[in-house]
Formats: sequence, C-alpha cells, structure tokens
Amino acid sequence: MDFLHTQLRHVENRLSFVKTEPIDWKLYVQIFAWTVTFFESYLLIRQYPLYSKTAPPPALAEHFDPGVFEKSQKYGKDKAKFALFSGLYKQLVESILLQFGFNAWSWSAAGYLLAKVGYGPEYQIVQSIVFVFLMFLVSSLPTLPLQAYGTFVLEEKHGFNKTTPTLFVTDLLKGWGLAIVLGAPFLSIFLYVFQWAGDRFVPWLMGFMILFQLTMVVLYPTVIQPLFNKLSALPDGELRNRIEALAGKLKFPLKHLYEIDGSKRSSHSNAYFFGLPWSKHIVIFDTLIQQTKPEEVEAVLAHELGHWYYNHPLKQMIISQVHTFTVLALFPAFLHSPPLLRSFDFPKAVAAQPPTMVAFLLFQMILTPFESLVSIGMNAITRHYEFAADRFAVELQDMVKDEKMSDMGPRLGRALISLHVKNLSTVWVDWLYSAYHHSHPTLTERLKALDAFEVGRQKKAE
Ligand SMILES: [Zn+2]
Repeated sequence: MDFLHTQLRHVENRLSFVKTEPIDWKLYVQIFAWTVTFFESYLLIRQYPLYSKTAPPPALAEHFDPGVFEKSQKYGKDKAKFALFSGLYKQLVESILLQFGFNAWSWSAAGYLLAKVGYGPEYQIVQSIVFVFLMFLVSSLPTLPLQAYGTFVLEEKHGFNKTTPTLFVTDLLKGWGLAIVLGAPFLSIFLYVFQWAGDRFVPWLMGFMILFQLTMVVLYPTVIQPLFNKLSALPDGELRNRIEALAGKLKFPLKHLYEIDGSKRSSHSNAYFFGLPWSKHIVIFDTLIQQTKPEEVEAVLAHELGHWYYNHPLKQMIISQVHTFTVLALFPAFLHSPPLLRSFDFPKAVAAQPPTMVAFLLFQMILTPFESLVSIGMNAITRHYEFAADRFAVELQDMVKDEKMSDMGPRLGRALISLHVKNLSTVWVDWLYSAYHHSHPTLTERLKALDAFEVGRQKKAE
C-alpha cells in the first residue's frame, strides 16, 4: 500500500501547478467541447450524401428489395438531420449554462434549499447530493423536447415507435426515481470514503466501485430491468431445445432462458446474457424471435456464447477498472485547488475549501478530451471482440464436432441481415463515421469477415 501511495504522490506533485496557477479552465472546456461538436457534425456531413445512394452495396443487393432499401435510406437521412440539429442545440445549451456559471449557481441553490429545511453547510454530503440532482434535472429539461420529438415524430414516422405518451412519461419518472434511489446512496458512500480515508482514498474508492459494479451485475437484470420490461421463460419448443443443446455442448452454465418484451417500446432487437460465473441467464428479445428463424437465433446465440467463451465481459471490466484507477490517480491534484473553482465562477468562500463533489465534477469536465480518446480505444476493442465472436460461431462446428453446425456462418449472416433490414439500419457507412461512433463493425464488414473465417477454417481442416 505504501508503495502505491508514494507513486500516487509523485503524480500529484507533477500536477502541482493545478493548485497554484490561475488557469482559465472554463475557456479550455468550452473550446474542447465545441471542437468535439464540430468534429461530430463534420462526420455527419461526411455520412449524409451516402443516404442518397439509390442501391445497396453489391454484396447486399439480393437481400434488400428496393422498397426496403429506399425506406432505410430515408430513415437514415432523417436521423442524420436530427442528430446534426440536436448535437448543435445540446452543445449550445451546455455552453450557455457553463458560461454563466451554472455549476456555481447549482451549488448555492442546493445550499439555499437545505438552509430552508434547517441544514447548514456542515452537511456537505447532503448538499452535494442535492447539487448533483438539481444540476442533472435543470440541464436535462431543455433536451426533453428533443427526446419527445425523436420518439413521437422521427421513430413514429418510420414505424418503430411503440411508446405511448403515458409510457414515455412513466419511463422518464421511473428513470429519475431510480437515479435518486440508486444514486443518492452511491454518492453518499462515494463522498464518505473521501472524508474517512483522506489522502489515501484511491484503493478504498476502487474497492467500493468494484463492489458496486458487482452488485449492479446482480441487481440490474433481477430488479431494474423488470421495472421497464417483462421477462418471461422462453416457451418449450424448437428454439429452447436448440439453445439448451448448444449451451450443454459448450458447458455454458445456463440457469434461465428468458424472452423479453422489447417490442413494447420499439421494434429494434437483440439478445444478451448475464449473471455470475456459475449461473448464467440468457435473454432473447421477442422481436429477434419474430424476425428470424430458430436456427438463425441459435447462430446469434453462438456469437453471444463466443463472448462468454473468450471472457470478453470480464476483460472489458478489467479495462474499465484500469481506466477508473487512472482517473482516481489523477484526481488528488485537482481536489484542493481554489483556482480551479474560481475559473468556474465559484465564490471565493466556496473555492477556498473546495467541496469534493464540486472538484470531482469539474475534474470530469476537464478530463473529457482524455475520455474521448478512451472511448475511441474502447470502440476498437469491442469491434475486435465482435469479430472474435463471429469467428467463434463459424468454427464452433469443429470445436463441438457437430456436422449440423457447419452452416453456422451463413445462418449468422442471414440473422444479421434480417435484423439489419428490419431495423432499417444504414448499409452505406463512411469509415471515419463508423470508427468514431460504432462499437460494432458494419454489416458489410461482418459479412465479409464471416466468409473469410469460413475460408480460413476449411484451410485449417485440410
Ligand atoms: Zn457481439
């Protein structure tokens, strides 16, 4: 532990200028945020002309009837226009709030509200929680019309929306309620660890975050997901038999097999698994079941089990711990820095003794360039995992020695295509747009790779 703390102190000393130099952090955050927004707009402008193409790529031509292709192009065009407008609008709102000291205002407002009910500034953790919720609530109000437009105009126009206004409002309230029920205790413990561990907070906070994530792995599917969707046991029949047989062959510890009513809100579709290492649950969207044949759903599951086989979720969790650790290791330099708060318009009295929550929030804002790079890196890793899982599905036949699985690649290909067609996903994608935004490779890339995996497999067998 002492070694760790010595190293952490080195990092802090390296960054000691943060505590003394009056840097214009706000200007820096503004410039960077606008740079990102303009870059994202530029990507949309690169992608936009592709929606005017009148035919799909040759490899996909046979799978699209012209009507469906035209519909998917129109949907893409509408979504791109909407994304361009909402990106600029959101950034404008954020930028105005930032410029006029919204963060400092929220802190004072939280203090004012608490004083009304008899809590003074000595209740810093309570004030921090009110501060976070106030900021979250006020800053989300201007984007509500966008959300409503996206659901009731855009998705509606293209036949995806199944959300009623009542469901929209109850989902929103449930989301906020959940944020308070889960967020308030999380934040209190988070801030309490700082108070209690002082300068030695890094390992304790890491421990707490890991514990929290593990709890969520258990809580999310059992408590949270059922608040929004209905999970029911997948009925007996061909599909269940196929999946159980597949799980059995791979020694996948399948505990429960569910069908989820994803179609209640939207007809976009998927499948996933979750659970602890010795007891796993598979969830399949009813839309996937409706849109594809049982042997194709089986191929989708073979892909999912590829993720399990290669421990992709665990690897991703480890990467995210390394990321959390890096962030926490940099934080001490920003924790007691009056100039930092002053540059975001906090009054001298607050800046003199920066509240942990405020410092952490500002620190996060400063970190956005780093976080953008991390997210591009994470996308690259996820894409790599997607290809690995596809290859797993293709090579499964050799692994479990089952002739009947020899067409797993084509089956997966057909499933991907029909999901793509049903979701009206874009088939023409600009490479830079895709590399930045997509954690999954495009359909054309995946189909090409599936063919290549099959060729490679046959070569190996010879
Ligand atoms: Zn996948």
